[in-house]
Amino acid sequence: MTIPFTVRPADRLPAAERERLLAAPAFGEVFSDHMISIEWDRQSGWHGAQLAPYGPLLLDPATQVFHYGQEVFEGLKAYRRPDGTVVTFRPFANAARLNRSCERMAMPPLPEETFVEALELLVATDRAWVPEQPGHSLYLRPFMIATQRSLGFYGPSDAYRFLVIACPAGAYFKAGAEPLTVWLSEDYTRAAPGGTGAAKCGGNYAGTLVAQAQARERGCDQVVWLDAAERRWVDELGTSNLFFVYGSRLVTPELSGTLLPGVTRDSVLALAAELGYTAEEGRISVADWRADAGSGRLTEVFSCGTSSMITPVGHVRSAHGDWTIGGGRPGPVTARLREELTGIQTGERPDPFGWVH
Ligand code: PMP
Repeated sequence: MTIPFTVRPADRLPAAERERLLAAPAFGEVFSDHMISIEWDRQSGWHGAQLAPYGPLLLDPATQVFHYGQEVFEGLKAYRRPDGTVVTFRPFANAARLNRSCERMAMPPLPEETFVEALELLVATDRAWVPEQPGHSLYLRPFMIATQRSLGFYGPSDAYRFLVIACPAGAYFKAGAEPLTVWLSEDYTRAAPGGTGAAKCGGNYAGTLVAQAQARERGCDQVVWLDAAERRWVDELGTSNLFFVYGSRLVTPELSGTLLPGVTRDSVLALAAELGYTAEEGRISVADWRADAGSGRLTEVFSCGTSSMITPVGHVRSAHGDWTIGGGRPGPVTARLREELTGIQTGERPDPFGWVH
């Protein structure tokens, strides 16, 4: 252990009740018995690490996070494998991204080992909450908030709390991999050069809710975010990254600073190359997306992220017209990558990258 954790055991939910909740998990509504919290202040650095019963926080109304939004978070999953072992996927990549988000938001970094130890302790303690059904998982939500009690906005908070909570998640694919319909947001943008687009901070998400509502009104599942200056280049989706498939060549928008560097995106780049595809980062314009989908040169598009894994994108809607990719049906490259990546996580396929923890 990099820092000592105090353990305050919870009254566990009775097993029958837990099993009932695990049978049909309503994502994000039900939480495991415990949570992690670690304090930081300027004098002591990280201290006061605890595994405690899951429950409400008592915070002063003048706590900085409520007013100025100094907050970052992460998201990853723990899987129960057929052999009974419980694993997480690339937790050090999430630890590193949390610290990059912290740097952008003027928050103190948490040692990567401490981040991973916190996850290990929570998952080991609440192991019974890791679902057994194939495709189900325990979603882990690490986050950090500014806890200084002051309305003065003179600089970064002088105190922070890091927490980890966990909730069971069902299989994302209920009716097979049904392709998404996505909405091109031209009225709103998510991130601008020099802004916080590459950080996983709460404000990035609050600002996207109106566009998400527009998407839903038009029967779309997700928002496609374009660059802020020209509204010409594709950045990403609301909670996932995008890949464009031209036969055996895959292209994903480059990390320009305005999109989130997804752990799944990074994994797909490496895995695709390993499987013999050409996998590149580049710039994709809306005009090319539409023209290449029309000509059939663009064969598939898929979204990738922790929550939805790898999902085909079948239709695009915009104020200037709609188009379809690959006949709106799931394509073979998308299916293969999803199978291979899921296989690494479940242990059905070897893990040549050492991603499974
Ligand atoms: N983009 C955004 C905006 C996201 O919220 C997420 C989810 N974290 C992703 C991309 C995908 O990232 P990851 O593969 O690490 O889940």
